Amino acid sequence: MSKEWIASMRERIRTAAEEKKIRVIWDVEGHDNFDYREDPQPTRPTKARDPWAWKLQHYLPGYCSQSVYRVKVDTDGQIYPCCVGDDGTLSLGNLNEKGFEEIWNGPESQDLRRGMLTGDVPKFCKGCGFYTDRVPPESYPPFIEDMNAKHGFSAEKVGFELEGPEHMIRTREAPQLEWAAPTIKFDDYLVVLSLGSQDRDTKCFRVPRNVTKAFIPAELWTTMQENFGYWWTVWGVNKKRPQDSQRATPSRCLIRQKDIKRLPGSSLEY
Ligand code: SF4
Repeated sequence: MSKEWIASMRERIRTAAEEKKIRVIWDVEGHDNFDYREDPQPTRPTKARDPWAWKLQHYLPGYCSQSVYRVKVDTDGQIYPCCVGDDGTLSLGNLNEKGFEEIWNGPESQDLRRGMLTGDVPKFCKGCGFYTDRVPPESYPPFIEDMNAKHGFSAEKVGFELEGPEHMIRTREAPQLEWAAPTIKFDDYLVVLSLGSQDRDTKCFRVPRNVTKAFIPAELWTTMQENFGYWWTVWGVNKKRPQDSQRATPSRCLIRQKDIKRLPGSSLEY
């Protein structure tokens, strides 16, 4: 391919992208982002605009969306899971040697999915923004609204902080949750953990008012789905007047870690 031919193809593709109002990333002899969409997507998916990506980020924090709905095919037939990891260490196979289906279900592809699920990702992914850019603590994820409706709590009554463990912790043992004291009169605490931050598979337990930390009870911990994100927060509950109860300002995410062995035969580098 001569430089002139590549330049003419680049211009044809750019013109086509402009006419069709789409986005094309050009990565031959230089990198260009031709984005002619009338309504470009925000960097972080929202629940309304991209519910699938939103769910992935909340249910399986750290799972790179690129690795499940994209592949990159190089001109030499080499297949990569994304446009970022094309340095060779993330190669999933070569179309000159195997069919696409065999590559998509091959040891490297499966090993990458295993790593995304368990947090044991290849070394190249560890420094990539698609892996490191997690949803921050949230002040009003969906399960809060459901809990408010169920218990008669007020959405406006917030006012104390969560203190530990850190947001997005992966842990094999039930962690100790810790928070600051509410600024209101209350009877006890209600601690809530919600799968994917939606009101599905929600775990609740009570804590006496005179302590501000508690381990997740074993009988709850063992029923939590492994390698999934549980979003948690705490209410200081006023039993007589639930509407006066107060919630911790943020909700954090934690993951019950389960290791899965790396796949034999995979050439991904860790
Ligand atoms: S984390 Fe980055 S390098 Fe790894 S598969 Fe996703 S986009 Fe590619």
